[in-house]
Amino acid sequence: MLVVMHTTATPADIDAVCRVIAEMGYSAVPMPGEQRTAIGVVGNDGRVDDTNVVGLAGVAQVIHVSRPYKQVSREWRPENTIVQIAPGVAFGGNAIVIVAGPCSVESEEQILSAARAVRAAGGTALRGGAFKPRSSPYSFQGLGKRGLELLALARAETGLPVVTEAMDEAGAELVAEYADCIQIGARNMQNYSLLKAAGRIGKPVLLKRGMAATITDLLLSAEYILAEGNTQVILCERGLRSFDTAARNMFDLNAIPIVQKMSHLPIIADPSHGTGLRDKVIPMTRAAVAAGADGILVEMHPNPERAKSDGAQSLYPEQFARLMEEVRLIAQAIGREISPPPGT
Ligand code: PEP
Ligand code: MN
Repeated sequence: MLVVMHTTATPADIDAVCRVIAEMGYSAVPMPGEQRTAIGVVGNDGRVDDTNVVGLAGVAQVIHVSRPYKQVSREWRPENTIVQIAPGVAFGGNAIVIVAGPCSVESEEQILSAARAVRAAGGTALRGGAFKPRSSPYSFQGLGKRGLELLALARAETGLPVVTEAMDEAGAELVAEYADCIQIGARNMQNYSLLKAAGRIGKPVLLKRGMAATITDLLLSAEYILAEGNTQVILCERGLRSFDTAARNMFDLNAIPIVQKMSHLPIIADPSHGTGLRDKVIPMTRAAVAAGADGILVEMHPNPERAKSDGAQSLYPEQFARLMEEVRLIAQAIGREISPPPGT
């Protein structure tokens, strides 16, 4: 339930509404807006009886949120949420954020060279996994803490903010010390203790859709993070498992406009995992921008043949640079722009 206050409501009116909600056994979340304050009611799992609230001073309207997810819904918050991961780098506004870099951090030379290439092409942020959730226990598992240190080094040199994955609660605390945004991967979308930990930590979170998750499942997972008090969540479509083996995954671009209707959170697209092959990544990146994605997460490696993970879907630096020019034109055609690297 959402209690919308009149523009003339006083702080005392707002306090009184919050008190009544608390007496009813729920939590009240006041959300001051430009014109008026809305007070969200959380802690209920079904329709709340509003008889004690509707008649209170200053109450303009009571809205019953009909969806299973609440705080992530557009009913709860009609305006877009802007998620800022670093000064000048924000998701959910008019600018489209391009996050690029290798699948995994492999060495100092590799990540610095990747970061320089991202920066030179005008990319907005750097990606790279230090903790890798691999399907096989025998595949490269990432450099761990050393990988985080190398990402911090790359940020210090290039100024690009860093997005990197955490796989468990303890890892999330460590990742938060180094990263500007904590990625929660497809395999962990329903790791509820990790979602809660990321909510408590309060850093921006990039939440990827599970490979067999519905859009409602994705939004409910995001709800776990918001329920802990962290509204800084970016959603990511990265392709689904399907019957068709022609591509690594079925890249669900429908999810972009669907999520934008259902939720106020920004949604970005990952055409690298969505397609699995670099020659498909290029057209599907263009398509994702055209579909209205608030950002792109794309894998690029200075030497894809030598990559320790996901080389086949990693762009060459020259391909990435050309793609940047193309998406700039596509963004312009739909009245948007590409977010430049910070400090430019
Ligand atoms: C990744 O971003 O490298 C990754 C492991 O992605 P996903 O969780 O989508 O498989
Ligand atoms: Mn990858």
